Amino acid sequence: PPNVRFDDVSFAYDPARPILQGLSFEIPAGKTVAVVGPSGAGKSTLARLLYRFYDITGGSIRIAGQDIRQVTQASLRQAIGIVPQDTVLFNDTIAYNIGYGRTEDPGRPGERGASREEIEAAARAAHIHDFVSAQPLGYDTMVGERGLKLSGGEKQRVAIARTLLKNPPILIFDEATSALDSANERAIQAELQSVARGKTTLVIAHRLSTVVDAHEILVLEQGRIVERGPHAVLLEKN
Ligand code: ADP
Ligand code: ADP
Repeated sequence: PPNVRFDDVSFAYDPARPILQGLSFEIPAGKTVAVVGPSGAGKSTLARLLYRFYDITGGSIRIAGQDIRQVTQASLRQAIGIVPQDTVLFNDTIAYNIGYGRTEDPGRPGERGASREEIEAAARAAHIHDFVSAQPLGYDTMVGERGLKLSGGEKQRVAIARTLLKNPPILIFDEATSALDSANERAIQAELQSVARGKTTLVIAHRLSTVVDAHEILVLEQGRIVERGPHAVLLEKN
């Protein structure tokens, strides 16, 4: 996988009010860097800069040495998988929702993009079947508007299966477990950790205690890195 570098990155939604300032860090190829900090610090904004949802106002972001402004949106989207806090699902089957990212058009999966077998394999790997105790949650289960019928944890498993199927070299977990209760949080965290193995990963987390493992942790406050270091060192200080 490629490495990711932020060099002196700044960003503002409104020129009069800088949100992120002087951010420099590297995610080495295949490693995880976590960004923690209070709400409003700019963590989600930072994550969105990496996939060019917003353009930076200063500095540079490079993937494998290439400035992301020189990369097409299509190849950026192919290279980066995102697991958000609250996965919004289509009013369709679980299979469709898993295969969505692989279809060239939001058409039915299997017709273009991923095959039924590939989607089923991803669903199994994300433990979608054995997660639900009451009724069997099958490949063809309709989930309804906003994933109705699925719990928060189940929705995150759909997002994980989608990411497994896409198999991008770079991952972003944006508070991917923040909306879950603590039992689900631990289960999904373990799942995410195994998905991230060998991938270049940016983890956004509200609390340090929810970061399982990282090459480096950055503490962001009011848009600046106020502290950084390995997990153990920061845990000791905070
Ligand atoms: P965090 O993820 O750490 O909670 P955010 O990146 O969501 O922080 O927000 C950082 C700051 O940017 C906050 O002051 C927030 O109000 C502001 N902000 C976030 N999104 C927007 C937006 N789309 N337009 C204007 N301001 C925004
Ligand atoms: P990509 O579609 O290339 O994966 P995006 O940033 O558009 O990149 O989407 C991130 C993730 O969210 C993808 O896994 C994608 O399948 C999924 N996604 C994108 N748009 C929607 C949508 N409107 N509803 C449900 N899922 C979506």
